[in-house]
Amino acid sequence: MSKNPSVLLLEHHLKELKLPTFLRDYDSVGTVCSQERCDYPTYLLRLAERELIDRERRATERRIKEAAFPVLKTIETFDFAAQVSINEPLVRELLRGEYISKRENLLLVGNPGTGKTHLATALGFAACSQGKRVRFMTTTGLVTQLLEQRETRTLQRLHKQLERLDVLVLDELGYVPFSKTGAELLFDVVSRAYERTSLIVTTNLPFEQWTEVLGSERLTGALLDRLTHRVHILEANGESFRLTDAKRRLKRK
Ligand code: ADP
Ligand code: MG
Repeated sequence: MSKNPSVLLLEHHLKELKLPTFLRDYDSVGTVCSQERCDYPTYLLRLAERELIDRERRATERRIKEAAFPVLKTIETFDFAAQVSINEPLVRELLRGEYISKRENLLLVGNPGTGKTHLATALGFAACSQGKRVRFMTTTGLVTQLLEQRETRTLQRLHKQLERLDVLVLDELGYVPFSKTGAELLFDVVSRAYERTSLIVTTNLPFEQWTEVLGSERLTGALLDRLTHRVHILEANGESFRLTDAKRRLKRK
């Protein structure tokens, strides 16, 4: 049976207006509402609420995709008992995201395998769910991209993209030393982010050793100055989770 013209037009308009949930549900919600003898505003309200919820969910999914987390990790799978050196109350507070509105930075310092990347991802994920724009990059990945875009004279475009972010995660500072230009370009990003975008930096290096990867002492000082002006520091001094996990498995055999 062909649809009546009003229905056809309505469905067309709902598509044009980009109201997919309205379109999907107007009929079924209509049936329920007529059974319950709801008035028209209640009917429309129910549809509008569904549309809003779906829209918010899609936006969060989009932000998570754009954040480009290497592996999606959340706080639910983080075992605080396995890494007692991590300040759990501070992590719980940070998950609420007030540091982002205050443009404060986070620094996660500790040995490899102590959950720094996991926590940085979980914090980024929480921020996405709170409507924040997040981007996860390895520090080396960012520096490589900065150097490449400098070559092709598209650096400004990258800076513009970074400036739109609420949170920039820079993972693994310290594993690879930077060239002089690389270090300067990284400093530029940190400078521009200052009081505009929250940075979450993970590193295996204590502050004294940052000069080793950044080269110049003056540049390291200036970078640390900006990064740590308003900063929360999470330290993970425990054993590597991977190592403990592997040992536990070996014992079981
Ligand atoms: P880091 O970045 O400090 O080197 P990762 O966050 O990459 O360490 O952790 C290594 C692996 O161990 C990851 O798969 C991570 O999810 C897991 N892991 C580390 N610490 C914990 C923890 N406390 N609870 C659950 N998983 C953990
Ligand atoms: Mg890591």
